Amino acid sequence: MRILAITNQKGGVGKTTTCVNLAASLAATKRRVLLIDLDPQGNATTGSGLDKSVLKRTVYHVLIGQNSLQEVTVSSGEGKFDVVPANRELAGAEVELVNEIARETRLKVALAEMTQHYDYVLIDCPPALNLVTVNALTAAHAVMIPMQCEYYALEGLSDLVNTIKKVRAHLNPGLEIEGLLRTLFDNRNMLAQQVSAELSQHFGDKVYRTVIPRNVRLAEAPSYGMPVLIYDRASKGAQAYLALAGEMINRAAQQKAKADKQLNVQ
Ligand code: ADP
Ligand code: MG
Repeated sequence: MRILAITNQKGGVGKTTTCVNLAASLAATKRRVLLIDLDPQGNATTGSGLDKSVLKRTVYHVLIGQNSLQEVTVSSGEGKFDVVPANRELAGAEVELVNEIARETRLKVALAEMTQHYDYVLIDCPPALNLVTVNALTAAHAVMIPMQCEYYALEGLSDLVNTIKKVRAHLNPGLEIEGLLRTLFDNRNMLAQQVSAELSQHFGDKVYRTVIPRNVRLAEAPSYGMPVLIYDRASKGAQAYLALAGEMINRAAQQKAKADKQLNVQ
């Protein structure tokens, strides 16, 4: 089971869109996927075809220790992947956990019982570097960073990289950067091309080759409670997220082959 925190403290960069559509794309390649919504806005929950208002148990109850993850897990609207939903109640967790023991490791501990059930766990983080995000970073093997290629993007990235370093030092020494994903990309925009080139300079092959274009179908799909793959499979957005899933799977296979080879040499 590979646990990925999809995070960026900036709002509107495509975290939730990536979470829902990558979950659907990985599920389409027969991977068992769990999406965990960690944003009180619950957009990933709605985007997965679930009605926030009728949910009695959510990730909030897991963080405060009232329920196990399994008890709050439900099937996505189309039934292709599983979802741990969130709603506004989650906003209270931050305050309620302040004086609790092991408040940063709540999600990590809760996930331990799931290791046999899924190939990928995707965590949709809120747009903040708060305790809930720290829970995601502590539970995760790696971070996926969706970003829009605009002027302030690189600046925000250094805050995030510093937080990752702190989490590594104190809570999760193995935390890696899985990859940087260029989202809402407009190829005709010169600035986007410049920032994109700078990103590649700094982060090398951590930058996914797949680019997610600005595509109206991606913005429309959530209002129907569907991943874009179901809403409009032929759209550029759907094809881009399928390509991303393929790239991730290929990368993982290459890394495994490399590790096996090293073992043989030793
Ligand atoms: P975040 O979770 O980082 O706040 P969202 O995934 O909610 O970002 O995206 C912000 C807004 O932009 C949403 O309205 C979403 O539908 C839209 N959006 C995200 N990615 C794309 C894209 N590639 N093309 C068009 N619209 C997009
Ligand atoms: Mg979001």
